[in-house]
Amino acid sequence: MLRPDVLFTIDYGQAPAQGELRAATFIARELGLNHETLSVDCSPLGAGDMAGRPIASHSRVSEAWPFRNQLLVTLAAMKFAGEGLKDILIGTVVSDRVHADGSPEFVERLDMLIKCELPQTSVTAPALNMSTLELVKRSQVPMDILGWSFSCHRSTVACGQCRGCNKTIDLWEALERS
Ligand SMILES: [Zn+2]
Repeated sequence: MLRPDVLFTIDYGQAPAQGELRAATFIARELGLNHETLSVDCSPLGAGDMAGRPIASHSRVSEAWPFRNQLLVTLAAMKFAGEGLKDILIGTVVSDRVHADGSPEFVERLDMLIKCELPQTSVTAPALNMSTLELVKRSQVPMDILGWSFSCHRSTVACGQCRGCNKTIDLWEALERS
C-alpha cells in the first residue's frame, strides 16, 4: 500500500525468525521492494512463546516479549540513522493493542523519543486504527502474496496452534465470508 524505500527484517533471536525471513524475502521480491536484514541475538532477554519460555511476568498475553518493539525500532534507527532516515513505519493493527507496545500512546511516545536524537525522523504505524481484515482489503494485496505472510509465534513453519497462527486462520475465514 505504501511501498517504502526499504523493508527491514530483524532476526532478534525469536523462535520463528527463519520463517519470518523466508516470507519477508519472498514478498519483498514479489513486490519489487528493497529488503535488508539484520541478525542480533537477544534471545537471552526474551520471554513468552516467541522465546520458547514461560509467559512474561508483566503481561497476560502468551507471546509478549518485554520491550521488544522499542528494541526493534531502535535497531532500525541505528541501522539507517546515517542514511537520511525520514520515516520508520511499523506494522501494528488494532488487535495488537493487547500489548502495551502496540498502543497508540506507545507509537506516539516512541516517535517523540526517536526525535530527541533524529528530529527529522518520524515513527508512525499507518494501520494503527485498522483491523487486519481492513488492512488486507484497503491494501488490495493479491491473495497469492498474502498467502506467503507468516505469523507463527513458536516455530519456523506454521504450528497451527499459537495465537499468531489462529489469527491467520481467522483472517482467511473472514476473507472467505466477505
Ligand atoms: Zn503458530
